[in-house]
Amino acid sequence: MTELLWARMTAPELRAAAAEDTLVILPVASLEQHGPHLATGTDTYLGEAVAARTAQKLQAAGHKVVVLPVVWHGLAEHHMPFGGTITLDQPVFLAVLRQIARSVFRHGFARLMLLNAHGGNTEAIGVAVAEIGNEHPGRRVAGGTYWLVAPEAFAGILEDQPGVMHACEAETSMMMHVTQGTVRLDRLAQAHGPHANRPPSQPRTLYFRRSFADMTPTGVVGDARRASEAKGAACLEALGVQLAAILGNPALWAAPDPAQRFSA
Ligand SMILES: [Zn+2]
Repeated sequence: MTELLWARMTAPELRAAAAEDTLVILPVASLEQHGPHLATGTDTYLGEAVAARTAQKLQAAGHKVVVLPVVWHGLAEHHMPFGGTITLDQPVFLAVLRQIARSVFRHGFARLMLLNAHGGNTEAIGVAVAEIGNEHPGRRVAGGTYWLVAPEAFAGILEDQPGVMHACEAETSMMMHVTQGTVRLDRLAQAHGPHANRPPSQPRTLYFRRSFADMTPTGVVGDARRASEAKGAACLEALGVQLAAILGNPALWAAPDPAQRFSA
């Protein structure tokens, strides 16, 4: 098996990978409170794990792919009241992503995926894709939050939620699987909260700045009490399969045909 992790590869190996139109996946995450039972590095561990599993599936299907080290510093101001949280502000976060992309593209890679693992980064990832795409018109850049890109991955696995919430059934189960022994099982009974991080008066599509502390006293959104290692293993596998199917589809990356432009 060819090495999949950028940081474990040499510069000559990465130059060769760039020459073969290898897809670069950049996991983007956060370091923040995850309730009484989960480690602050949850999004970082899960971002790395989802990216690695996706890359394994892509490689098994014959695609060239390499995974950069995770960006562990994200946008987490809304978690600061709980402690344990490190946050960047938007301009710095976007600058970090832009400059990583610049470096990747300068070395000749042509395709980049920003694979986000933190809800607070969601909108900024969309902005980053637009900014990076504008700056590098000849390259292809995609981005998205893993559970929003592949929501079907959780069907039939989770019992108490439809998908990822926060420090919830999904994240806790995957942390049981990915970081054996870090979940504080003695605190699991308290690991539940509301099932939305907005009140019923706020439509999903209406932006409204809220602190997590105003929405959930435990820091949890969702219900982790029936989390299990087996559910986590199944979620991670399903995510890898579905994300690899999306990213491995050549039509996603196809350059537009200039002949099709302005035909009307
Ligand atoms: Zn998060």
